[in-house]
Amino acid sequence: MIELDSKQEQEILHEAELFATREIRPYARQIQEQQSIPRSLIRAMAERGYLAASIPHEYGGMGLGPKAYGLLTEVFGKALPAVRSLLTVHTSLVSETLVRFGSPDQKSSWLPKLVRGEWIGAFGLTEPEVGSDAKNVKTTWREEEDCYVLNGKKKWITFGDVADVFIIVASQEGRSTAFWVERQFDGVQTQAIEGVMVGGETGIAEIDLHEVRVPKSHLIGRMHEGFEYIVSGALDQGRYSIAWAGLAIAQEALDSMVTYSRKRKQFDQKLSHFQLIRGMIGDAVTKVHAARALCLRAAELREAKDPQAVMETTIAKYFTSKIAVEVANDALQVHGANGISSEYPVSRLYKEAKILEIIEGSSQMQQEMISHYGLKTYYKRGGGL
Ligand SMILES: Cc1cc2nc3c(=O)[nH]c(=O)nc-3n(C[C@H](O)[C@H](O)[C@H](O)COP(=O)(O)OP(=O)(O)OC[C@H]3O[C@@H](n4cnc5c(N)ncnc54)[C@H](O)[C@@H]3O)c2cc1C
Repeated sequence: MIELDSKQEQEILHEAELFATREIRPYARQIQEQQSIPRSLIRAMAERGYLAASIPHEYGGMGLGPKAYGLLTEVFGKALPAVRSLLTVHTSLVSETLVRFGSPDQKSSWLPKLVRGEWIGAFGLTEPEVGSDAKNVKTTWREEEDCYVLNGKKKWITFGDVADVFIIVASQEGRSTAFWVERQFDGVQTQAIEGVMVGGETGIAEIDLHEVRVPKSHLIGRMHEGFEYIVSGALDQGRYSIAWAGLAIAQEALDSMVTYSRKRKQFDQKLSHFQLIRGMIGDAVTKVHAARALCLRAAELREAKDPQAVMETTIAKYFTSKIAVEVANDALQVHGANGISSEYPVSRLYKEAKILEIIEGSSQMQQEMISHYGLKTYYKRGGGL
């Protein structure tokens, strides 16, 4: 087990593992079949502080540092990715954004409800016509004497159909601003998106905003600088969470692959005896160890508040989501036909892994950012012959 800085963090992690083993893993299939996370489970997680794991003590959170929070994300990501999504969205994208960019009044009014799980938060950036090109959202806002008025549509919003509050990014003359929108506001309507390959349990939804009157006190951060601060900051936090989510899936897939190969026999031999199977296992171990090293490196830099942390987080997210797909693919292969059965976890891991290459900036967007950084950083002036 990786050592944490404090004994208290170590205990929190140990308890989370017990919680995941007792309260999540036995119900994972049921949760998937019912396509929703029971409110009782969300309440139980909130009572133990997991929904506010990375939120500072002064706001009622657990105050975990980046490394402990990453490891906690891995614990839930291994048990059930839909539950891990609560940490990614509610905690990292919404609550942490409020901690970073909210005014003192906003924090004191809203954070306690998020911390206690009385409110579930969602992050509304993507739209039917705008995904990767997130600077160009089409949802609009205008100012009136006593409020801002929002109009537009958001799509693919995790927990969109169940959330009580949303951070909504809207545009005016090409500049974004972020607003705190409550479900109860007139003109807010959500519709669950049916028939998704995976993630139905997370209430993924479209959000319609029609003449939604948002109080002036609900603008987050600075007007017209929503992309530069709120979106960039939230996506960095989200990517950190997804880096650990990818590691979780890859580790879980590796565990399944090894366990199955040591039990299943063909040609009177355990599968683990065959060199081609061992090749897949060797590659998977290497990828998981490399992914863990990248996640821990990103954690270290985040603890040190090093500006390089943003790029290392991007690299970790890109790598772990990529190898999660590869390792889950090989794990399914090692299971043969059993791999496609819901009796074994590997087909679910395979589908869940794929999502990670799309969310919080697709793999191509990460490659763009990483190559931009690489072209600047590794250019040898006067060299190259
Ligand atoms: C399960 C799930 C949960 C999600 N949850 C949320 C959420 O909570 N909140 C939210 O706001 N959004 C959410 N999203 C949306 C997600 O952020 C977007 O799907 C993502 O940003 C990609 O946008 P897009 O799907 O519109 O793809 P597009 O932007 O249309 O891209 C399509 C393809 O083209 C590639 N591409 C695009 N531009 C370029 C380029 N310049 N160079 C090379 N390749 C390019 C992309 O990588 C992708 O492969 C979620 C999506 C999923 C699947």
